[in-house]
Parts: sequence; structure tokens; C-alpha cells
Amino acid sequence: MVYCKNIHFYNESCWPEVNIEKIIAYLNKILPNNVIEKEKKSLLYLNSIDKQKITSFYNQAIVQDLKKPLYIYGLNYYHSSSNYKDKKVVTPSKKIEFIDLLLYDGFLIQKLLQKFLKKYEQELTFSRLDIMVTDKLLCTFDESDWRYHARSLICGNPALISTSGIVEGLAKPRDYYYELYFFKENHDIVDELKKKYNEQFINYNDPRINDIIEGLVLQSLFYFINSGEPFCQNRNCRLFNAHVQDDIIRINIKEKKICQRHKILLNKYNKSHFINNNRSKNAEK
Ligand SMILES: [Zn+2]
Repeated sequence: MVYCKNIHFYNESCWPEVNIEKIIAYLNKILPNNVIEKEKKSLLYLNSIDKQKITSFYNQAIVQDLKKPLYIYGLNYYHSSSNYKDKKVVTPSKKIEFIDLLLYDGFLIQKLLQKFLKKYEQELTFSRLDIMVTDKLLCTFDESDWRYHARSLICGNPALISTSGIVEGLAKPRDYYYELYFFKENHDIVDELKKKYNEQFINYNDPRINDIIEGLVLQSLFYFINSGEPFCQNRNCRLFNAHVQDDIIRINIKEKKICQRHKILLNKYNKSHFINNNRSKNAEK
């Protein structure tokens, strides 16, 4: 068990539905001894020089070859380097529509941020866990089927949570795909389908996104609390490893519970704060 006293949030998301303060209020209840804060400034745009570096790094992290374009996920995938640009349209109601999405290698992005954070902190230690919420569609390469997959969460320090990864990375109901396949050329019908299945999956600007992010924050914490194993076998626990939209909605919206086993672990974790404190006091003597 690793005790991370300080938990630090960076919100890089444009979604107005993302409410980090609400997540922090929840964490304060279950982790009373932790110091949990949200950084006011964006991690990526602290100054213009770094902004340039960050942009070039992000370009390097763009996935060039998926092996198979994921049309079924409704993604527009660019192969040509000349088209590398996120095209976000912000309508007057501040709703964001992602017309095109690029895929980024989540582990490469994580490495960049590790370097970046080291520059500003003396050392990146597990006494402080940084969590970044981003809209970038993060992917990891899976050797079992030899292709990239969109991810909602990249565990580690910093932990990365992707809003687009929640929307695109978790499978939608099977019937939705069947209907989408048959009507994929007709945008009006596709929009109708999205409305029809609205409750069954998280879509862009879905107000439920914050509760989903909260659950992923718990998993990113349990990655350290439970020695690299953030997930739970219990299908109703918030630490269940969701692969489909139905799962993530059930554990974070309908059930919204932590199972008994993980509650016990959480208690142990909260108590270990005092052990850690005494240790550091003794070391000072
Ligand atoms: Zn559990």
C-alpha cells in the first residue's frame, strides 16, 4: 500500500459538465487525511515556450496506424500528417461538438507530463499524485489483438482520465451498433439513434460524465492503495473494470457503491496516514 498524501487535480477539459470541486468534496469525505487540491492554472500552458514544446510532443503522440480504422466507434481517423488539428466547434450554448478526433498514445502523453511535472516540482514522488482530466482521446496498444484501443483511464502518476475515452472507449449496446451499421450513411438516422439510445451510453456533454470521472479517480487511487491492482471483481463496485457503457453507468450512476472489501482497504489506507506521519516525525528526530 502506497500512501499518497497529496492529490492534485488538473482540469484540461473544455466540458462545462466536468466539476472537479464536486469530486474533491466527495474525496474529502472518504479520504479525510489527504490534502486534495485543484490547480487553478492549466498544466500545459504555464508559459508560451512550453506551449510550443507541448504542441510538438502531442503531435508525436498522435497514433499513426491503428491497424484497423475504428469506423464502428464513429471516429474519423486521419492518416495524413497535414490534417493534424483538433476541430472543436463551440456553439453559443457552450456545448462542444467534436467533429474530428485524433488518437493519442496515452503512455507517451503520460511520459511527457512526468517530465513536465518534474521541471516544476523537485521530484515526482508518490507522496503526491497528479490527476489530469483531458479531452484528448487517449489510446493504448494492445498486443493481444495488435491494435490501439481508446482508454478512459491511464493509471500511474500522473493519472490521466479522458472524457473522449469514456465516450469512445467503452462499447455501446450491441443493437446500437447493428442499427448504426445499417444506417451509417444517413446522418439524420444516426442522430435519431443516438437519441434513442441516449440513456444507455455516455455521449458528449452528458451531465453524468462527472460521476463517471469520479469513479475513474477512485480507480486511479486504488492503483496505488492496492499495489497496482485498481480493479474489483464485484460487478456493482465502483472499482469494477468496465469495458462497456452499461457497466460504467451501473457502477457510477445506478449503484455508486464501494464494496465491503474495498471499504476495508480504504479504512486501512486512511489509518496508514498516522503510521506514515509518525514515521516521518521519528525520522526528523
Ligand atoms: Zn470492490
